[in-house]
Amino acid sequence: MACKRCGSANETALGAEVNIHFPGTMPLDDPGFFLFPKLAICLDCGFMQFTLAERELCLVKKVLAGRGNSADAA
Ligand SMILES: [Zn+2]
Repeated sequence: MACKRCGSANETALGAEVNIHFPGTMPLDDPGFFLFPKLAICLDCGFMQFTLAERELCLVKKVLAGRGNSADAA
């Protein structure tokens, strides 16, 4: 797949850990929400993107719904 920023095909996929912070007040003992996506990184310009797995996307939606936030409130 070509890079969306520079068009290069010089991309690689790497695993990552992403800590999501939801809008609003966070309790002090709330470490956030960890996701483990595969990153697509362009080795020419550094552009990076990822897509959440369906299971992780469902968890994000569930947390947002529980906090009274809609998906576009973030
Ligand atoms: Zn690029």
